[in-house]
Amino acid sequence: MGKVVILDENTANQIAAGEVIERPASVVKEMVENSIDANSTSITVEILNGGIKSIKIADNGDGIEADDAELAFERHATSKIRCIDDLNRISTMGFRGEALASIASVSKVELITKTEKAKTGTRVVVEGGRILYSEPVGAPKGTTFIVRELFYNTPARYKFLKKDSTEAGYIHDIITKIALARPDISMRFINQGKTVIHTPGNHDLLSTIYSLFGKETANAVIPLNLSQNGVKVSGYIGKPEISRGNRSLEMVFVNGRAVQNRMISSAVEEAYKTRLMQKRFPFTVLMLNIPPESVDVNVHPAKLEVRFSDEQLIYRTVYLAVSGALSEASLIQNVESNDTDDIFSFQETGPKHEAEQIKIEAKPEIRTSLPEKFLKVNEGNRTGYPEKSIMKEPGFIERAEKYTDKKEEYPKAEQKVEHKFERTIEPKAGITQPPDMQKAAVPVKHVPEGFEPKVQDDRERLLNARIIGQAFDSYIILEEGEDVFLIDQHAAHERIRFEKLREQFIHEESYSQGLLSPLMVELTEPEMQKFYELEPYIKKLGFEAEVFGSKTVLVRAIPYITGDGFSARDFRDILGKLSHEVNGVLEIIPEETIYMMACKSAIKANRSMSIMEIKSLVKDLTSTENPYTCVHGRPIIISIGKKELEKKFKRIV
Ligand code: ADP
Ligand code: MG
Repeated sequence: MGKVVILDENTANQIAAGEVIERPASVVKEMVENSIDANSTSITVEILNGGIKSIKIADNGDGIEADDAELAFERHATSKIRCIDDLNRISTMGFRGEALASIASVSKVELITKTEKAKTGTRVVVEGGRILYSEPVGAPKGTTFIVRELFYNTPARYKFLKKDSTEAGYIHDIITKIALARPDISMRFINQGKTVIHTPGNHDLLSTIYSLFGKETANAVIPLNLSQNGVKVSGYIGKPEISRGNRSLEMVFVNGRAVQNRMISSAVEEAYKTRLMQKRFPFTVLMLNIPPESVDVNVHPAKLEVRFSDEQLIYRTVYLAVSGALSEASLIQNVESNDTDDIFSFQETGPKHEAEQIKIEAKPEIRTSLPEKFLKVNEGNRTGYPEKSIMKEPGFIERAEKYTDKKEEYPKAEQKVEHKFERTIEPKAGITQPPDMQKAAVPVKHVPEGFEPKVQDDRERLLNARIIGQAFDSYIILEEGEDVFLIDQHAAHERIRFEKLREQFIHEESYSQGLLSPLMVELTEPEMQKFYELEPYIKKLGFEAEVFGSKTVLVRAIPYITGDGFSARDFRDILGKLSHEVNGVLEIIPEETIYMMACKSAIKANRSMSIMEIKSLVKDLTSTENPYTCVHGRPIIISIGKKELEKKFKRIV
């Protein structure tokens, strides 16, 4: 008997499923991508038990014709390409034609779909890859898939699923990224009956960020915009105050797909360097647009990884876009708007146990701070069937306009949170929107205030500010216009020194100051080796040092800028920081060495300063490239608004 057999279709599909469908989140990803390909403007994903028990995906897209509905579950069934040549001009999300077949082979699937033209819809029920029945059914235009009991017939795979909450987390992440990539689509995610994501689908990325991450985040992002050598960088990046302890919100999209790429992360992080504390990572929604031929997105079956033909170019452009945006933005933290809030909030947070309760419940926060009424417009209903889009009803646009024009039509509570974000977009004269845009166009744009580059302004304000004095011999107090500024004197001085030192180093003009009595520095053997190797660079920093015996170095002069109190330990620290591997390139004088020298020489806290000294410190600070954060990423300046104080003193409510 021969041992070679041809696998039956269903077994082949189950094997294919192993590659494409790893967990409930993969089902969501494939299905939502199909909905997007079908021109949906509203997609609702509803799950039970982390999607293991059921996943329902409802869209208002093109639907599937009755004749094709069964066929769609066949392997290599796709409506998107016909032959290999088509692969070159593919712009849709999927084209392998195996997702549905794979999903259907490892779960129980119900499909209800209807095209615009069809008189009735179609319902197909598939179990473990076998079609149980297919029948006409009344349905609105669009497609709803319900995937139940994933992996019920493949226990080995079922076993690898994680906790419901973990699986739900993966789905949350995927929907978040799709929502950001497609601000033109209203995405809704319902987990165990609770709506946890609901984006407006109004074409505006900032409102999408607002609805996903909340007001605080949306208020603390800076727009990106750089086009260079065919590479376009856009999107938003977070100010240091909304940084995170890991990279989970460092989100990068290449040609509309969420990707992970170490090279891009390092370009971003390099640009944030000295603006973030160690082990803090920025919030980014970074959109890269690159000619398709210079990027390969099909490295990974789930298309998470990308490769570029010109990595250098991408690195440089991302770095420039991010550092440029950061240096143009005002990064003064307001005590009201971030975690320093608790300085003044002793009364407002209410009894402690209440706050704790909120944490324990971990109630998913749904940001309905976009006008409620507007949110209800572009969505499928809760039962999963896509609602007939109200937007296409005559009079919708007019009604929506009414909401924006007349604020008093909002319920009071919303108005309070919202007013900052409302602005009406005037369609630009002479530009006609494509018909598709027109139907989805929503005449509301949510642009938070305060995104105009403020850097010149901030510097001028600091220079013009009235010096009030010093608090605790550590913080300088200034008043200008409607704000009081507090400056951390040590952090400010450190930043000034850092930039000066770096400049001197770049231009090779370090100045030395001789020591009255030379410093004897004992070194270990490896330290000695390093000293021999790097002697010319140590000189370049402004040191004069020579070997004195087998384990000792004699330091005769130190860089002028390091100031008093320089010790043997400081020399060892600096030597320790010299030379380390960065991206495989030996960077002889890392910035950290310069930070360290700057830090050691800066004015300390607890030192009283004269008005003249304060004045010159503030002046020097305004001439730095980044007056907002010290070299370790801590804030240098914070502000308190007059209004804020009036609120605290209950002069206004
Ligand atoms: P692919 O997306 O690679 O074509 P799939 O197995 O994911 O393959 O889907 C098979 C086909 O089913 C698609 O080509 C499309 O014609 C149809 N289809 C799947 N989902 C939808 C949907 N939500 N709306 C309309 N058509 C769909
Ligand atoms: Mg697909």
